[in-house]
Amino acid sequence: MKWSQAHIFTLREAPQDAEIKSHQLLVRGGFIRKLAPGVHTYQHLALRALRKVEKIIRDELDAVGCTEVLMPMVQPKELWEESGRWEMYGDLLLKMQNRNAQWFCLGPTHEEVITDLVRKDVRSYRDLPRNLYQIQTKYRDEIRPRFGLMRGREFIMKDAYSFDKTSTDALKSYDVMYAAYKRIFDRLGLKYRIVDADAGNIGGSQTHEFQVLAEAGEDHLMACDTCEFAVNIEIAPVLVTERTSNEALKPIEKFPTPNLKTIADLAKSTGLAETELVKTMFFKTEDNRIVTVILRGSDEVNAVKLKNALGITNPPELLGEKEVFEFTGAHPGSCGPHGLQSKKLTFGKFQYQASDEVYVDQNLKGCQNFIVGANQDDQHLRGVNFDRDFKVKGYFDLRMAKAGDLCGKCGKGHYQSHRGIEVGHVFYLGTKYSKTLQATYLDIEGKSQLIEMGCYGIGVSRTMQAAIEQCHDADGISWPVPLAPFHVHVCLLDASDSSCAKVADDLVKKLEAAGLEVLVDDRDERPGVKFKDADLIGMPLRIVIGKKGVDKNEIEVVIRKTKEKLAKSPTDAASFAIEWIRTHR
Ligand code: ATP
Ligand code: MG
Repeated sequence: MKWSQAHIFTLREAPQDAEIKSHQLLVRGGFIRKLAPGVHTYQHLALRALRKVEKIIRDELDAVGCTEVLMPMVQPKELWEESGRWEMYGDLLLKMQNRNAQWFCLGPTHEEVITDLVRKDVRSYRDLPRNLYQIQTKYRDEIRPRFGLMRGREFIMKDAYSFDKTSTDALKSYDVMYAAYKRIFDRLGLKYRIVDADAGNIGGSQTHEFQVLAEAGEDHLMACDTCEFAVNIEIAPVLVTERTSNEALKPIEKFPTPNLKTIADLAKSTGLAETELVKTMFFKTEDNRIVTVILRGSDEVNAVKLKNALGITNPPELLGEKEVFEFTGAHPGSCGPHGLQSKKLTFGKFQYQASDEVYVDQNLKGCQNFIVGANQDDQHLRGVNFDRDFKVKGYFDLRMAKAGDLCGKCGKGHYQSHRGIEVGHVFYLGTKYSKTLQATYLDIEGKSQLIEMGCYGIGVSRTMQAAIEQCHDADGISWPVPLAPFHVHVCLLDASDSSCAKVADDLVKKLEAAGLEVLVDDRDERPGVKFKDADLIGMPLRIVIGKKGVDKNEIEVVIRKTKEKLAKSPTDAASFAIEWIRTHR
């Protein structure tokens, strides 16, 4: 393809809102253009890279017996009410009405639609198993769309859904998809980790995320330096370091702590380490409870772990300062578990039931005579003890894991911290959707049974950008061959010179005949501009054809990744490129 026809417009400057490198490069390289926040046009170069991601996905899914379909993006409210998600999905769901005042939403995911499809068609055990997938544009009304395609409102997803007779079969389907995902991300040439993850509001009980490792990633991962275990920090388990003390229980004693607002202040003033201090946090839940958590002063509460301990769907929210005051009678910094009272509280439109029972992080177990806020401004209590001085609801793993913590799985190695971009997700759903939507089949004895399901997503557009986040340098993108929009970028310098044009023409024909995709920069631009643009848009090989070289029967091949330059005759350049691309595919 010729540059002059390809509608590629590069920019010298990145737009202000492009915070991360891959986003800047996508815009500067003319790959994407923003229409509205989180909504983009994929220009030709981007589309070619997306098609490559899609092809690898299709190859691998078709190979394990999945079948491609395409479902509607516009979905009726009634179906989402049947599954119970019309309200529960929250503000991510973009809802709209048609001319007849009927409500619809734009599909953020397709469990409802696919389950409806299958429940209507599948009758008996003979119709199972099935694994259906689609590659399609999704819409999620993300609160903060950002980083270009990473967190779009409109984005391309591959979503697959498996339907099996039994949970054993469903878990086998899960394993098949897990293995297919590994092949997909291996073929894409990305550095990734597979991590244990929280099931979120899709439900189900077994789930893994495929995370591309990159500093700019929004997810925080912990990986053991000794065993294979890797996990999203949201659920990274921490081991208990229980203490035993023979110290006698002391009486409670109040002492003044003016101007000591933080744990660090308190540590300084008492001379105790932050690990020896206890802090108290308050949360409100979706089911209108106020809960109190205590943990070591040096630790942070993990809201996802707390959500799971509470048996609710969404992570609870921290109480604001005023709300804390209403519950405890003191401002944050002077609050504690002693003297709390169960009561009803009204914050804004909502009524909450506050409890005097305290959720305790397991790492406080065995602690005695500790210091906590007195629920009176500028006062603390020392000599506070479990059960005697406040009600313990239970001991739970509630703290955020940290780099250097003992691995929660093997207990031998230590966690290392990584940032990740979630590009894929596999879920075992069980009968969550088949139950609410009544998707059943008749078993061999003619008895009606619920279908067992799994769902499997890949962020196609996010994956493409994640590849750039992993493969770029100061000059621009350096596409891995499997994803590159073109394999070879020919910089034709003296385009109006007939001998140069002929060399370029012959070369392109040879490369294309060997199955390579070639972009020819035939613009009337200075060599410097062409080289800069070639580095920016990042095709794996660049071949420079100019009058001076052609007269000597010499053209230059540049390997984008290493910047290595090789002078070759046009014939040798062609065979080199064909072989190089073949070995890097
Ligand atoms: P996230 O935690 O990043 O919001 P999610 O867990 O809600 O994502 P899933 O429901 O698991 O997303 O969707 C499957 C895949 O779709 C994700 O693994 C991710 O790669 C992609 N994806 C999800 N949301 C977006 C988005 N807003 N923009 C681009 N890709 C997305
Ligand atoms: Mg996910």
